[in-house]
Amino acid sequence: MKFLNQVGDYAKEVVQSAKYIGQGMSVTFDHMRRRPITVQYPYEKLIPAERFRGRIHFEFDKCISCEVCVRVCPINLPVVDWEFNTAMKKKELKSYSIDFGVCIFCGNCVEYCPTNALSMTEEYDLATYDRHELNFDSVALGRMPTKVTEDPMVTPIRELAYLPKGVMEGHEVPHTARRAGKRPEEILDEESIPSE
Ligand code: SF4
Ligand code: SF4
Repeated sequence: MKFLNQVGDYAKEVVQSAKYIGQGMSVTFDHMRRRPITVQYPYEKLIPAERFRGRIHFEFDKCISCEVCVRVCPINLPVVDWEFNTAMKKKELKSYSIDFGVCIFCGNCVEYCPTNALSMTEEYDLATYDRHELNFDSVALGRMPTKVTEDPMVTPIRELAYLPKGVMEGHEVPHTARRAGKRPEEILDEESIPSE
């Protein structure tokens, strides 16, 4: 009798195991038909939102050395170095810098700059091996920002999905559009546009 009970328990466990394996495999097969949601960085990059607060761009010629950006910054971060030009009777900007190793990208300086000398870009790729390299001077701040959608080395990806059919510019995609779509090269193939 004991032996028969053991066989019965064993058979039950075998059936249950088969059921669990079946459930696991059904999830696996279901995912095989879906598009991946991982981003193969740095070959693929997500397109930042239009109002993304990335690296700050600075226009030297527009700056009037008023230091409003310093006063509105929660950590008084921008360094505005100027001299008073007695002949012209106005401030003359010598150098300007922002340390992105300390900046919290709040955007206050951009918001309050009276001449719009500052603007936020969609550049987020600022990693370096030395934190001192994050202290951008006016030349580094004046460099035009890189755009994910304009970098030929990068496949732009909107959010965690690929661009919808017929769309090559992620910013054109309305928020209501479906998240999954075709890869840019598939769209090019469909429209018979050479991809290179
Ligand atoms: S607020 Fe604008 S104009 Fe004034 S110092 Fe800062 S960057 Fe220059
Ligand atoms: S973004 Fe904010 S923290 Fe960074 S420099 Fe401007 S005001 Fe300061």
